[in-house]
Amino acid sequence: MLGQMMTAPLLISSLIDHAGRYHGDTRILSVNTGGGTEETTWGTVAANARRLGSALTAMGLEPQARCATIAWNNRRHLEIYFGTSGAGFVCHTINPRLFPEQLVYIINHAEDRVLFIDETFVPLVAKLRDQFTTLTAIVLMGPMTDAAAAAIPGIVSYDDLIAGGDAGFVWPVFDETTASSLCYTSGTTGNPKGVLYSHRSTLLHSFAANTADGLAITSRDVVLPVVPMFHVNAWGVPYCAAMVGAQLVMPGPNLDGESLVRLIDGQKVTVALGVPTIWLGLLGHARAAGSKLVTLERTVVGGSACPPSMITTFREEYGVDTIHAWGMSEMSPLGSVNRPLAKHGTLPVEQQHRVRESQGRPPFGVELKIVGDDGQDLPHDGKTQGDLLVRGHWVLDSYFRMHDTPILQDGWFPTGDVATLDPDGFLTIRDRSKDIIKSGGEWISSVELENIAIAHPQLSDAAVVGVAHPKWDERPILVAVPAPGQTPDPEDLLAFFDGKIAKWQVPDKVVFIDVLPRNATGKVLKRNLRDQFAGVLTE
Ligand code: ADP
Repeated sequence: MLGQMMTAPLLISSLIDHAGRYHGDTRILSVNTGGGTEETTWGTVAANARRLGSALTAMGLEPQARCATIAWNNRRHLEIYFGTSGAGFVCHTINPRLFPEQLVYIINHAEDRVLFIDETFVPLVAKLRDQFTTLTAIVLMGPMTDAAAAAIPGIVSYDDLIAGGDAGFVWPVFDETTASSLCYTSGTTGNPKGVLYSHRSTLLHSFAANTADGLAITSRDVVLPVVPMFHVNAWGVPYCAAMVGAQLVMPGPNLDGESLVRLIDGQKVTVALGVPTIWLGLLGHARAAGSKLVTLERTVVGGSACPPSMITTFREEYGVDTIHAWGMSEMSPLGSVNRPLAKHGTLPVEQQHRVRESQGRPPFGVELKIVGDDGQDLPHDGKTQGDLLVRGHWVLDSYFRMHDTPILQDGWFPTGDVATLDPDGFLTIRDRSKDIIKSGGEWISSVELENIAIAHPQLSDAAVVGVAHPKWDERPILVAVPAPGQTPDPEDLLAFFDGKIAKWQVPDKVVFIDVLPRNATGKVLKRNLRDQFAGVLTE
């Protein structure tokens, strides 16, 4: 053996130990589910995580037993993240917006043993609990209430559970490839599929995310994870924040513009992370309320394409840098982050702004490539588009309990996205492969058209889908959501595309809708729109 350095497994318990020891009095603000806020610290979260770890161990759970959560972003959820994984169990976060039958499927498929729930979800769980086949305990995340005790006989209170736990509990040491957390993808077709993260993948992802060219979260930041903890571990933010001891603001159940502006201004938030629809609500309210979001330095936007007009508004009206990032559940989720290079600094300002619009470049630890229909590599010339494949230290190898269904292509994970890559590695997502529009043999990116449409002042939201056309097979139509009090003229909306894209890409028609249908993770359900408007160009 030639290596002479220490090795220790990369375990999630070491993150919370670090935060508790070196950032013990750093503040964490948590919005309670029942209203009001509470303040805690990394020191208390670390102690409570150990109490929880010891209490779960005392329950006799087997190693890697799944402990599920249906909960908002709050401090108890944070303690559960670290307490379950730290003690060698798997933290299984569940999206409450799933259909009840999917929820039952997921809990039984994961063989969850313990279920932690916020008060909001007591009625939901009360209704479904007879169908859960593997649960031994349901835990209310808070003090016990009469309503919960009546609705779910035997439910225990989180506060009581950890009160009986040991704050001096010593975390077990095990192999770093052990499973740490589990998250099911929403799956628009078929059953949801589980992505099982490991301690190692989680720590390596945190190191990468925290680099200066990544999300660059530091101990001086006040971080607002708006992205839910039930969606890809809130993009890994809880782990990243613990690694550097950042201050956290956990927003609880209310993610409307008014609540978020109040939190950002009141708590002096410096970095906030979430999907574009959330920021639309926030920007709308900030403008109406006259807030300038003075402390906010940057937003991290991902989950769907960030419209360039949003980046401009943040920059010009609020002095906020938008970091556009791309990823997916199968990638923990970080695949790319947009940070301009030194050479871009000498470009004319308009071109510098343009650079910030793409999904960015992979951090060390992830590789990206594009391939054609024949599976052959395509050039990274910024023009050729192909199926996007990824591999790396925090990328899925096979879905949970689906080892027999290989999904990799020569060791690469097919993302289902269609993209271009430029010579520097800047990624531009053109579409989900199932959403790209094929018009007379040419491809049209729905994302590109949406990015233009959403900037129209009379629209509050927009989607573009392809529908059947007698001559061109498929043509794009614009599904537009008028801004409150506006009645936009369809001709005017279509004229808005002039000069911004090639004429043959301009949608054929505008249809209006009150609200876009979205899935449990907030993505537009384009299949529903295609069905709903299937005949508009043929009738
Ligand atoms: P789910 O698959 O459960 O809906 P994910 O977060 O895993 O949720 O979705 C991943 C997909 O979201 C990506 O494959 C991509 O299509 C889309 N996506 C994520 N970030 C971006 C982005 N910045 N721009 C465009 N699309 C994005």
